Amino acid sequence: MKAIEQNFRRVTPYVPGEQPKKKGIVKLNTNENPYPPAPGVLRALAELSRTPDALRRYPDPAAQELVQALAASCGVGEDQIFPGVGSDDVLAIAFQTFFQSGRPVLFPDITYSFYPVWAQLFGVPYRCPALDGDFRMRREDYYGENGGILFPNPNAPTAIAEPLSFVEDILRHNPDTVVIVDEAYVDFGAESAIRLLPEYENLLVVQTFSKSRSLAGMRIGYAVGSPLLIRYMNAVKYSYNSYTMSAAAIRCGVEAVKDEAYFRETTAKIVATRERTARALKELGFVVLPSSANFLFASHPQYPGRQLYQALREADIYVRYFDSPRIDNYLRISVGTDGEMEQLLGFLASYTRGEG
Ligand code: PMP
Repeated sequence: MKAIEQNFRRVTPYVPGEQPKKKGIVKLNTNENPYPPAPGVLRALAELSRTPDALRRYPDPAAQELVQALAASCGVGEDQIFPGVGSDDVLAIAFQTFFQSGRPVLFPDITYSFYPVWAQLFGVPYRCPALDGDFRMRREDYYGENGGILFPNPNAPTAIAEPLSFVEDILRHNPDTVVIVDEAYVDFGAESAIRLLPEYENLLVVQTFSKSRSLAGMRIGYAVGSPLLIRYMNAVKYSYNSYTMSAAAIRCGVEAVKDEAYFRETTAKIVATRERTARALKELGFVVLPSSANFLFASHPQYPGRQLYQALREADIYVRYFDSPRIDNYLRISVGTDGEMEQLLGFLASYTRGEG
């Protein structure tokens, strides 16, 4: 190590899913939406290209137009929305804002693998209660003293959703710490905890435009919470970067929120494809966890997960594989178009017949 490096910060970063440059692959590895964003989003981008002032100037630091649209669609006040650069940005700010007690923050042992990375980066102690044998969270694990609680609902990468009564039970047992529900996948079949906000000032719900709104490339996420929590998050945000949302992200976000019909149509299509794919995978002998998300978590009793992942990859079908305890035999398969799922199933059918 060079002398200059001695004083550098050393961290173990999160590893995002691959974005292969290769054309013509079936890409089912990062839970992107297979359908384009709403038509109004594309019109807004074209309009921006004709209004150079919109890019020459700084964007609105409060992203008020987007905050208004989200407040209306979530049925909350404008002082209850915190917008950010994808939910990763929103979650990172929440970590820095709410997890300051020095007591361990709780999140499940099998969950979004960015959580422990943020905890380490921001010096937040944490503990990871184990999911049960069916990959479900055990509510009692979240009753004791803690510095905050964070979990996705539906969970990732299991795709399993807990009912709202479960979320409420955890909130009721933790009135003095912030409970963050990461609802990145909620629009594909789980119940949003936004409904609980009037009763729980300690609840923060985080959602994203990356999955159900087809805008992963635009980087838009937001938190919905009590005015108290949102005020504290804004103070942290304005302490390091006031212009987080680009002018393009603000405009595209507004148009995406407006088109409720398109949102419903595309999410329903993904859910229908998911259910068909799950049935077909089971017919091939896969164990498929019940999914409320836009992906499936599946394993095969005869073929190791890593082997399947590699074989698929060689056939230009990309899925996600996690080399982690308890889930290293599973594949996480994003739900694509019907055509993409046919290609996946066709490959797996011949592979499990021994033709692979
Ligand atoms: N939470 C969960 C559970 C996720 O799977 C993801 C996607 N990687 C995110 C948050 C972050 O999504 P984004 O930053 O694109 O909003």
